[in-house]
Amino acid sequence: MTEQTPQPADRAGGSGPLGLDPDLLAIIVCPQCHGELEATDEGAPELICRGECGLAYPVRDGIPVLLVDEARTPA
Ligand SMILES: [Zn+2]
Repeated sequence: MTEQTPQPADRAGGSGPLGLDPDLLAIIVCPQCHGELEATDEGAPELICRGECGLAYPVRDGIPVLLVDEARTPA
């Protein structure tokens, strides 16, 4: 383990939302429209695109599945 900048203490467990790595969340974008992704856990853990397409990508076992074919199309 290397020394890192302390994480904000607003997340239980000291990890990012949905148990995802905050550093990972900071760099991944929507593969469809390259918009920002927002973690949500309303029913199922997903990453919601905040860009143009609004697709919802599933998170399986803590791994974001950033595949357009796997994404849920917004209603
Ligand atoms: Zn998108």
